[in-house]
Amino acid sequence: MRVALLGGTGAVGQRFAQLLERHPWFELTTITGKTSVGKKYGEAVNWLLGGEVPEYVRDLTVMETDMRNLKEVDLVFSALPSGEAASIEREVMRAGIPMVSNSSLLRMDPLVPLVIPEVNPDHLALLNEQRRVGSGPVATSPNCTTTILVIPLKPLNDRYGIKRINVASYQAISGAGYPGVPSYDIVDNIIPFISEEEEKVEKESKKILGRFNGKEVDQAGFEVQATCVRVPVIDGHTVAVHAEFEEEVDVDEAIRILESFDPGERIRKLPSSPEKVIVVRRERDRPQPRYDRLTGKGMSVTVGRLRRGASSNTLLFVAHGHNTIRGAAGGAILLAELMRSEGII
Ligand code: NAP
Repeated sequence: MRVALLGGTGAVGQRFAQLLERHPWFELTTITGKTSVGKKYGEAVNWLLGGEVPEYVRDLTVMETDMRNLKEVDLVFSALPSGEAASIEREVMRAGIPMVSNSSLLRMDPLVPLVIPEVNPDHLALLNEQRRVGSGPVATSPNCTTTILVIPLKPLNDRYGIKRINVASYQAISGAGYPGVPSYDIVDNIIPFISEEEEKVEKESKKILGRFNGKEVDQAGFEVQATCVRVPVIDGHTVAVHAEFEEEVDVDEAIRILESFDPGERIRKLPSSPEKVIVVRRERDRPQPRYDRLTGKGMSVTVGRLRRGASSNTLLFVAHGHNTIRGAAGGAILLAELMRSEGII
């Protein structure tokens, strides 16, 4: 499939370019930008990922983000800033060009599925509703922190039923894109505010863990409270979770549930699927960004510090995942792979 990447020079766009190199199904043929329009990708991009800009994209000319440049493609990935995404993503949706977006613009649209393939693949059925009104198929992947929080919550929710979640995040600098947070603000410091992040974590996790009722998604009924903090780490978001459940929790059983979490054959066989979605570490000081961010080529979520809280139905844990891989480009590519393998695109 010929693929266009909107906003391809940014932190997430670069991950897409890296992960799509030699992809068995998707061929990146169009890259769009704003300030870099007309330049060769290799010259326009400030490559953040180490090594060289992949050869296959180096000489692609960055195009204007305009519908005229999307006519020849079979699939669009959007890595646009959400404000910039407003008109073009809606146009792509209306034009019926398949799209998977990383931006927040359409995530909470009732007609748009917000999907983590291992968690709520059934929500893709919402695309039938899009088809009925003559648009799409357009699906979105969640905010990076939400993804890292929700993956371990999924099997725990299935077993114990979530009542309330309190989460504090420790988010990497690359989560703010490039150039992102000024060095003067973040070196020797932490910043206890990330604009709109807490609202995203609270709303999106309830949509993803909600139930598709055949027509729309009923939001999950539990409470989520988040405090999101930027820390001086380059890549990888960490979340400290205090989860209160309907039922009493057994810590050893919870560990077994997380370790044995299997998203099923239809997800496992996808090219970007990690061998293990959730990796549990038993050391008392893990997960850590430096050692755990690339687990499963950046597609696994590492969970540690599992212990019981003050009451018998609370569980405390720390989860970590790569924000631009699992939390952005890698998650979106996995979602597009699922859509293709299910015959949606
Ligand atoms: P970024 O580093 O600031 O990159 C944004 C890119 O978009 C820039 O390279 C810019 O390209 C391009 N752009 C800006 N306006 C554009 C327009 N009108 N048309 C085409 N391209 C335009 O941001 P990012 O971190 O990659 O984030 C991209 C999106 O992914 C955002 O919506 C963000 O919320 C979401 N997201 C980010 C992460 C993360 O960890 N960073 C995780 C999940 C989701 P030019 O250089 O050509 O101007």
